[in-house]
Amino acid sequence: MLDTRPLLVSTDFPAIDRAVLETLQVNLGYKCNLSCTHCHVNAGPTRSELMDRDTVDLVLEFIEQHPVRVLDVTGGAPELNPHFRYLVAQARSMEVEVIDRCNLTILGEPGFEDMAEFLAAQGVTVTASLPCYLEQNVEKQRGKGVYWESIAALKQLNSLGYGRDPDMQLNLVYNPDGLNLPPPQAALEADYKRELRDQHGIVFNSLFTITNMPISRFGGMLLAKGLFDQYMLILRDSYRQENLATVMCRNLLSIDYQGYVYDCDFNQMLGMPLIAAGRPRSHLRDLLAQDLRGNPIMIGDHCFGCTAGQGSSCGGALESEPDS
Ligand code: SF4
Ligand code: SF4
Repeated sequence: MLDTRPLLVSTDFPAIDRAVLETLQVNLGYKCNLSCTHCHVNAGPTRSELMDRDTVDLVLEFIEQHPVRVLDVTGGAPELNPHFRYLVAQARSMEVEVIDRCNLTILGEPGFEDMAEFLAAQGVTVTASLPCYLEQNVEKQRGKGVYWESIAALKQLNSLGYGRDPDMQLNLVYNPDGLNLPPPQAALEADYKRELRDQHGIVFNSLFTITNMPISRFGGMLLAKGLFDQYMLILRDSYRQENLATVMCRNLLSIDYQGYVYDCDFNQMLGMPLIAAGRPRSHLRDLLAQDLRGNPIMIGDHCFGCTAGQGSSCGGALESEPDS
């Protein structure tokens, strides 16, 4: 796979720094039961990297010592990590909101049939990728059979109260197929809600639209097809200054499966670690007692993906809406 990193590190993106930490996004490993074309972590069934128990305990220790409100658990398919349930249960017992970034199909895999019940019992927020409400588009990005497996999982989650009970949030994630930016989030959410309700009787809380980042598998595809410069021009031309204040890295730390720390998941994938206290690379254990407010954020040209149009983050569009 072609690597876009050398084309992104030198940038004229404006300097930004860290604000109060609210969310710890922990990558439990790159193993996944799917292998999606847009995947920015190159996850797949053959990846074997998984966070070990000692690092999971370090994550919990860090949460105890910092004002973390949200633990955002991601992967790969985070449920494939053998310590997933332990981490979730411990964090919930500390009254931290837990988000499971779930690909839905994992809920139907052999050995994971009781995972949905576990998530419901723990009051975990499920944020699930579903790149379209149409079968053809989902299967093009995610593989054959994925659409109907996802529909079955959503029905199971609804039957447990997800999307209906206010304490059981079910959110969906949309990302474009191709070079375009996501359409306006509110309008697309209304389309998803109507189609999923009318076609399948499915309900959910919110739709998050996320811009594809020019990195990893998607970035490699852009380079291979000679589309990298064209895509970067789209991101740059759609830059909106007002999105700078709310980019997610200001309040989030991203942790890799070995416990190393980054300003965001995208920097993690690019191997651009957070630099603090003069260390070229920080581990979670180095930061247990450190307040990172004001620390400069590592930026690159990929950051234009977060500020383009309505803005983009792991929680969807940023708050400011474009003028048209
Ligand atoms: S996009 Fe998500 S579901 Fe697809 S391969 Fe990557 S981690 Fe797995
Ligand atoms: S890619 Fe986005 S979230 Fe990551 S450092 Fe750049 S602006 Fe922040």
